[in-house]
Amino acid sequence: MFDNLKVGILGGGQLGAMLLRYAIDFGLDVSVLDKDPKAPCSRYSSSFTVGDPMKYEDVISFGRQLDIITIEKEAVNVEALRTLGKMGVKIYPSPDTLEIIQDKFLQKQFLIEHKIPVVKGWLVQDKSELENHTEKLPACLKKCTDGYDGKGVLMLQTVEDLSKAFDSPCVLEEIVDIKKEVSVIVSRNEAGIIECYDPVMMIFDKERMLLDFQICPADIDESVATYVCTIATKVAEAIKLTGIMAVEMFIASNGKIYVNELAPRPHNSGHHTIEASQTSQFEQQLRVILGLPMGKAKMTQPSVMVNILEPAVHRRQVIMEALKTILCTDDVHLHWYGKTPGSMGRKMGHVTITDKKIEDAISKSIMIRHLLKENHDTESSNNNG
Ligand code: ADP
Repeated sequence: MFDNLKVGILGGGQLGAMLLRYAIDFGLDVSVLDKDPKAPCSRYSSSFTVGDPMKYEDVISFGRQLDIITIEKEAVNVEALRTLGKMGVKIYPSPDTLEIIQDKFLQKQFLIEHKIPVVKGWLVQDKSELENHTEKLPACLKKCTDGYDGKGVLMLQTVEDLSKAFDSPCVLEEIVDIKKEVSVIVSRNEAGIIECYDPVMMIFDKERMLLDFQICPADIDESVATYVCTIATKVAEAIKLTGIMAVEMFIASNGKIYVNELAPRPHNSGHHTIEASQTSQFEQQLRVILGLPMGKAKMTQPSVMVNILEPAVHRRQVIMEALKTILCTDDVHLHWYGKTPGSMGRKMGHVTITDKKIEDAISKSIMIRHLLKENHDTESSNNNG
């Protein structure tokens, strides 16, 4: 069906590898560009190029032989994609969408212009400029670019904390009293048709800023679920999305809802769609970029997702034993990313737990999280000691 079509992915991490899984189902010829010669996709793609998706020359030389380019991370060179677009390569999502998303302040401005609710925030160019904003403390400081998994986020409680601040352009945000964090995956095709996935709820270990569980359906009223899906749809339309996007939102304890962040690509908060939706987010991304009809996003069963983090070297075997126990449970699906061992705490994989009732999926996931956490906690104490 797509015998002569050449598709490229910028980024070779686990999201790209999951995309490749579905590319096999469509018989696609997929090339991948990533800096790391051992990135997960290096094992599975028909052609793997070692190069930097942020470098103009690397993206041009990778992309000029391709028909379609998509992404699995947003840190890519937008100018190179614009040039390739002019050369006839189809780019999903568009370079304009990527430009807005790459900078948290531009993202916020864009959302405000489109009357989408966001947390109030101010642009600060560097650390010294924060001195002019001390009356806003306590506040949340976020790097405009290059933040991920909470690594570019810092809570500034008092003036004393300013010394720890990032010395680069940042958004200083009001602190929200968050009751729940939800994410909605939304897909939109070139004709403007939209499919919206059921909202997912994220539960964090607040001390370590690590995700503990991701639950679908989210524990929110139906009216709130409808509202957050309406917001996600509005964002997809405003940004003229072609592809798939995660819209992360905060539900504050006063009931207000804010869009926190957009990711115009398959996203962690959509991992469960592999087992628990009619069409996974990865298949949907491919359907959109190939111009095929979109699949239904409808949830087929409740699910919980638990991350597996890299243990300390001497605990790796223990994690493997824990996984053997975990896999004895019914309806537990392991996704091991095939990353080369690196630093402790990195995401090495995840498990998705499904069941007919969300309560049963949650009970199983608490046991699983406990088995995994026991290992992580032991590692931390070992490391400190
Ligand atoms: P990243 O892109 O690195 O994941 P986020 O913007 O999602 O960064 O922030 C990481 C976490 O920090 C959020 O999931 C939330 O728990 C917390 N957080 C972010 N912004 C605020 C805020 N304005 N008020 C309170 N907590 C926040």
